[in-house]
Amino acid sequence: MRHLDPVHILKDHELKHTRQRVRVLEEIAMDTAAISQPELEKKLGKEIDRVTLYRILNIYEDKGILHRVMDSNGTANYAICSSACTSGHHHDEHVHFNCNNCHKIYCLEVMVPAIKMPAGFSSDSLSLTAYGICDKCKVK
Ligand SMILES: [Zn+2]
Ligand SMILES: [Zn+2]
Ligand SMILES: [Zn+2]
Repeated sequence: MRHLDPVHILKDHELKHTRQRVRVLEEIAMDTAAISQPELEKKLGKEIDRVTLYRILNIYEDKGILHRVMDSNGTANYAICSSACTSGHHHDEHVHFNCNNCHKIYCLEVMVPAIKMPAGFSSDSLSLTAYGICDKCKVK
């Protein structure tokens, strides 16, 4: 697991740290699962208006700090990137897991297997989402 200190992350990516930027990262780094945009809006609504939140998320995505994962409803979820991600170049080719019970999305430490493309097709990114029951919802 990566050390997730918002102030460090901002410094590493040469971003000025503002209270609002730190708050957004804090919320996202708090959970091991990704967080959906509506959930972020609900949690930070009192401190950060929608437009500012949207702008911060875009900067983080551009900088290789966060990656966006769409859930089965088409809602954007955000998760912290691996250290391999840099500005404009994401390398988040891990499997995502969408729980059918709690609807959370997890970044798994399982790489998406390489797939041989047909002649004439070249892909530059590949994503794979598994659906099922997560370890927290599993009945013991
Ligand atoms: Zn990334
Ligand atoms: Zn679950
Ligand atoms: Zn992920």
